[in-house]
Amino acid sequence: MRTQIPCNFLQGILFLFMKLKTLFKKTKKIFLDLFFPINCLGCGKFDQWICDDCHKTFPILTEQHCPICEKEITQNGEVCLNCQKYYKINLKGVFIISIYKDALLKKSIHHFKYKFIEKISEPLALLIAQALQNSEHPIPDLIIPVPLHKQRLRWRGFNQSESLARDLDLKIPIVTNSLIRKNNTIPQVKMKNRKQRLENLNDAFCVENPEIIKNKKILLIDDIITTGTTLSVCAKILKQVGAEEVRALVIAWE
Ligand SMILES: [Zn+2]
Ligand SMILES: [Zn+2]
Repeated sequence: MRTQIPCNFLQGILFLFMKLKTLFKKTKKIFLDLFFPINCLGCGKFDQWICDDCHKTFPILTEQHCPICEKEITQNGEVCLNCQKYYKINLKGVFIISIYKDALLKKSIHHFKYKFIEKISEPLALLIAQALQNSEHPIPDLIIPVPLHKQRLRWRGFNQSESLARDLDLKIPIVTNSLIRKNNTIPQVKMKNRKQRLENLNDAFCVENPEIIKNKKILLIDDIITTGTTLSVCAKILKQVGAEEVRALVIAWE
């Protein structure tokens, strides 16, 4: 005779399991709060990396400039007409959100990238969203976070540009399987001049699945811009495979 397991018994087990799960979650939170407390990078308040009050202090740029001459004001950081006369332009414009010398922004980016706190991407993405809301930036077809070389990705554990793009949540496809970083280049910040920087980046990127890119308006997303060389090189290679337009968005100019 088969033993019937009473329904109440199964419900009891399930109830106990759910209770244990909740208890585990609570214990995990208590443990993390105790040993790895989260304090606001601005004021030290407990429980958020950037509290709401400190988030409000992040500056948002109200004017965008041509990324080449850095003088001419253009609507969305497009290259100005004068600079277009002298340079072959692959990157149509660079939209800059905030000011790097703001102490809290600088600290946030540092913790995000070099203390590996991926969660800081959320308040930074919120800042980007707020800046975009007050702008007339055109809507792209695709978003491409500037890729990291796989070694650097392994070192950091995440690609900061990709985290920003995902948390920004613009409901626009985010493409990460097309623009690829091949060589583990020396960080651009260590390069002395433009020639060195260009040589360093030469052949650093390639495009796979070019059909995704063809005839598309692309927005590259990066955390900070140092010289603009990386973005220019990315734009060039994307245009070579048929992108209709390439723009970039960054949190700040270092
Ligand atoms: Zn705070
Ligand atoms: Zn210009």
